[in-house]
Amino acid sequence: MEIRVDLERIKRDILTLAKIGRRESDRGIYRMAFTDADIQGKRWLTQQIEQADLIASTDGAMNISGELSGTTDAPRVLVGSHIDTVPCAGALDGTLGVVVGLECLRTLRETGFQPDRTLELIAFSDEEGRFGGMFGSQAVCGQLNPQSLETTTDMNGVLLRDELGRHGHDALSALDAARVPESIAAYIELHIEQGPVLDRTKKAVGVVDEITGLFTWAVTLRGEANHAGTTPMEMRNDAFMGLADFAHEIPRILEENGSDRSRTTIGKAQILPGATNTVPGLVEFSLDVRDTSEAVLEELGTAFRKALSAIARRRNLMFEFAQKSYLRPVACHDAIVQLLMDQASKLELDHLRMPSGAAHDAQIMGSMVPVGMIFVPSKNGQSHSPAEWTAWSDIEAGANLMLQTLVQLSSATN
Ligand SMILES: [Zn+2]
Repeated sequence: MEIRVDLERIKRDILTLAKIGRRESDRGIYRMAFTDADIQGKRWLTQQIEQADLIASTDGAMNISGELSGTTDAPRVLVGSHIDTVPCAGALDGTLGVVVGLECLRTLRETGFQPDRTLELIAFSDEEGRFGGMFGSQAVCGQLNPQSLETTTDMNGVLLRDELGRHGHDALSALDAARVPESIAAYIELHIEQGPVLDRTKKAVGVVDEITGLFTWAVTLRGEANHAGTTPMEMRNDAFMGLADFAHEIPRILEENGSDRSRTTIGKAQILPGATNTVPGLVEFSLDVRDTSEAVLEELGTAFRKALSAIARRRNLMFEFAQKSYLRPVACHDAIVQLLMDQASKLELDHLRMPSGAAHDAQIMGSMVPVGMIFVPSKNGQSHSPAEWTAWSDIEAGANLMLQTLVQLSSATN
């Protein structure tokens, strides 16, 4: 008989963890990284790992691990996600991947399965970026430096160092969490899709082939503020009209320079001085550009810059931009994508090969080791809200796909 996960235990774990950090007023979960609720969640997870008779540990970045030891010293397989949340979160983002990973290892342990490779569940710290990045996975990949550990703050100016210190943890020890790539054969993560595609197409699971990269710009268009009544239309340097022209050109630029996986969003804009009867002299806006190809991102960057300069010239404006962030797209490992597709077919799951539009720990891990990702549908595409939900049957499907895939990956011949 094929081994299967126990859905009731997954339900119980999800619902228990959902109570940690939940506010009754809005039913949202507030388990932001390194808050008391987050630490309580980490403690709960460690207990579950111990109760499952797995080897529990915490590394220098406060990542929580649970190990099912392999019979050989071949590089290990990591499975995981994160349990920290954004403010007012739902119950599944990150958490589901950790709970499913735990259930897979727990099931294998109970059936007496002996993997060649050590299987390790890992719950990464601060995936949601309270302190600006993906702290836990970046620590594992050796991407942190001592200086930033001393100076990094959250949006309210709280030092990472102080917040960790509050829990008796030395920030600099995060450097010790770095691993050598040769020690890890693969990292695999199950996550909710956080978009509408699987829900709309009625698929139980998605197999991710590429994780989107992105850049964000802060753009300024500077014209001249002037009287809305006395300044004739043709004598204005209206900064807002420059933004309007640019927004209008985005679909054309994506069509000519992007791919069907390109996304561009102006999510924030400020018109100044911001008076009804004044021609806007200044606009500041954000530009968020995503694609799964680095070459396409580069081409889009060039096209947006050209469009903005042309508009600025036409409307007599000054144009400036600053790149605020850049995250490289990461391709999932071909052999793992294929393995996931094969296992999904074997389990007779209705599945779809698709890109990930959101960033995940797998993206950071993918810079160092082969990665794979499983998506399960998000009801109405909703996420980062208490409305976030996935049907239990889809969760069970995704978890069994993870279980079978781990069995395959744990073989030293793979
Ligand atoms: Zn997440």
